[in-house]
Order: sequence, then C-alpha cells, then structure tokens
Amino acid sequence: DDSHIQHDMEKLQNAFVGFRQKYRLIKRIGEGTFSTVYKAEDLAYDKYDNSWDPDKEMEKWTPPPLKSSAGQSNEALPQRRRKPKYVAIKKIYVTSSPSRILNELELLHDLRGCDSVCPLITAFRSTDQVVAILPYFRHSDFRDYFRKMTVLDMSIYLRSLFTALASVHSHNILHRDIKPTNFLYDPDSRRGVLVDFGLAEREGYDCRPCVCHDDPVDRKTRLRPLVSSKEKGAYLREDTRPSRRANRAGTRGFRAPEVLFKCTEQTTKIDIWSAGVILLTILSRRFPFFNSADDVEAMIEIATIFGRQRMQAAALLHGCMLETTIPTIGRSGHTFEGIILWSTGRSETNDRVSDDEKLAIEFLSKCMELDPSRRASAEDALEHKFLRLGLD
Ligand code: ADP
Ligand code: MG
Repeated sequence: DDSHIQHDMEKLQNAFVGFRQKYRLIKRIGEGTFSTVYKAEDLAYDKYDNSWDPDKEMEKWTPPPLKSSAGQSNEALPQRRRKPKYVAIKKIYVTSSPSRILNELELLHDLRGCDSVCPLITAFRSTDQVVAILPYFRHSDFRDYFRKMTVLDMSIYLRSLFTALASVHSHNILHRDIKPTNFLYDPDSRRGVLVDFGLAEREGYDCRPCVCHDDPVDRKTRLRPLVSSKEKGAYLREDTRPSRRANRAGTRGFRAPEVLFKCTEQTTKIDIWSAGVILLTILSRRFPFFNSADDVEAMIEIATIFGRQRMQAAALLHGCMLETTIPTIGRSGHTFEGIILWSTGRSETNDRVSDDEKLAIEFLSKCMELDPSRRASAEDALEHKFLRLGLD
C-alpha cells in the first residue's frame, strides 16, 4: 500500500549520504523478484564525470524542451533552464548474492553504448544495499498496446528488440530473461530498450558438454533421464544415472526447449526463442501465451504445438527420451498459422492470414525453431524481410 511505499522511499533516501541532494524520488515504477525500481529526478546530472554523455543519451528519454515564449528567439537566448533529467533507480534486494549483483553491474558496464540496451549511469553501495542508476525510459505496459499492433508495428518493435539482442550476443552475453516487462517500449516514439541483466551470463560460463554438440550417431547411445511425472502423462524415461543440473533461470513460458531439456551447453539462441514467444503472443493476441506451472507442463505446451514427433527429436538432441500419452499432443502438432487463426477468432478452414502476417509467421518459425543450432541468430533475424518491413 501507499504508506508502505512512502516508508521504503524514506529508507532509501536515508541509506545513502547526500542522496537528497542528488535525487528527488518521484514514485515507485516497478517491483520485481529481485528489485524495486523508482523514478527520480536527477538533480546534479551534469556533475558526473564518466563516459556517459547525458545530453546525447537523454534526448531519447526526456520530453521535448519547453517552447520559448513569443517574441524570444532561441538563438538569441541561450537556454538557461535545463530540462529535468529523469532516472530509474533500481534498488537491488539485499537478499541477492553479492556475486549476482556484481555480475549484473559488470555486464551492464560491458554493454554500455549498445544500441537499444539501457545504459548504466552509475551505481552506489551502502553496506549491503546496492542501487543502480539508469536513464529513465518512458514506456507503456505491454498489455495496453499488444492487441492493437499492426504487422508493421510488430516489425518495428521486434527490430528494436533484435537490435539489442544482436549487440548483447556480439558480446557473447546471454540475457536469459527476454520477456515484455524486460523490454521497455514506447509505442508513440516506437523506441525500445532492453533492461534487467539480473540473470544474464557470459556464453560458455557454467558450461559442460551436452550431447547436442555430438555426432548424431553417438548421441543415441547416451540417453539420460530428465524428469518423471507420470501423473501428468508426459515424462522423460527413468534410468539410473544421476540426473544433471543445468541453468534453468528465466521466466516460465519463455524458456527455450533446450533449457527445459536441461542442456548444459546453452547459447545465446535461448534469447531468440523467448523473443519468438513475444511475437507469438502479439500475433495470437494472447498474453501470457504459455501458462505452465512447471517445466513438465511447459514441455507439454510446446509439444502440443510442434507435435510428438518433432518434440521427441528435440529431446533426443540433448539426450532425453520423451514419452507421452497425452491425447492432445498429436503426432505432428499444429501450424503457427492455424494457431494464430484460431486464437484470433478466425476459422482455420475458411479464413487465411494476410500476406504481412504470413511474413511474420515465417519469421516466427525461424525464432521458435526447436533445434537451437538451426534457430536464427539475432544477426540473421535483422536481415529477414519481416524485420525490414518499411525499410526497403
Ligand atoms: P527486476 O530484476 O526486478 O525485474 P528490472 O530491471 O526488470 O528489475 O526492472 C523492473 C521494472 O522497473 C521494469 O519492468 C520497468 O517497468 C521498470 N524499469 C526498469 N528500468 C527502467 C528504466 N530505465 N526506465 C523506466 N522504467 C524502468
Ligand atoms: Mg525484470
């Protein structure tokens, strides 16, 4: 409630010496699993001495300057009143491990200057409390605009997201948590920035060989179990070898199949899958599109689309035997076109998708490709005709 927020804001202002001289807290704008984010006015932005150029960065994030009053020319009168600079103050929960906090700040530092990635201005620590200061980016709630998007709107939105992914991936960094709340988008200016590197990691860090990188023939001899959940009607065959651990961090419904199959050699391609899920959400006008409570349910949902055959092949890639008796999982699944027609209230037999939608669906199938090695990279995606709509 309100008094609780006020209390937290007081606490934050008291935690750092000189906070009130630097920032004027305005309101709470986000509360996640790992942090609380506030909007604040930066009272002394021009005193920073770092590589971040506030004026260059901020023109994207601040409202247009006040118009000069009649009779006064802008040339003759240098603007004395500076426009307010807004920042987002991310208060990272003290329960987060120090290495995790350092990781997020370090990766953000590496990514400074990347197009469509929210830059880190600075960070402070007071005992166990760490705050990150980011430029404030005006954005709308995904739920308020995704149903109204035209195919061209989708293309512009995703071009911005894939531009960010191409930069992040070129630094060999996996974001791991691509979803609408971590991509701040302003439908008016049609600009977006990627935020939240709390789960991000460097490719190859925490990596052990997975059979998906083996020869297909060798792979068949090295099957292993994953989970057993007979009551759900789908399970990965039991055997006696120890089950393995793999990084599964991310958000339900956005996890790539290889994450669900506990691939131990995950790549930047996991972000491409998640971006594909966002596109599927927009095309089908359903959010959340996937609504699983756990990984087995998530596997069932994906298997329902792709069918038993392709899902079993995808499991085998990572050495898993997938067994299922669920009647809704057909042998060959459904087409994206069919799913989109059905979920938007059109009939699969009488209606067709538009040519633009067709292009979007073709692009979607390159992102939601079960085999990560065959899935498009962010660079490939940016070359696709769908992301170049309105450009060529
Ligand atoms: P968490 O790790 O808690 O999810 P995020 O970095 O995703 O933290 O931030 C949570 C929310 O705060 C975002 O979904 C967004 O609404 C808001 N937010 C984060 N950074 C900014 C920013 N730079 N400008 C405006 N709002 C932001
Ligand atoms: Mg977040």
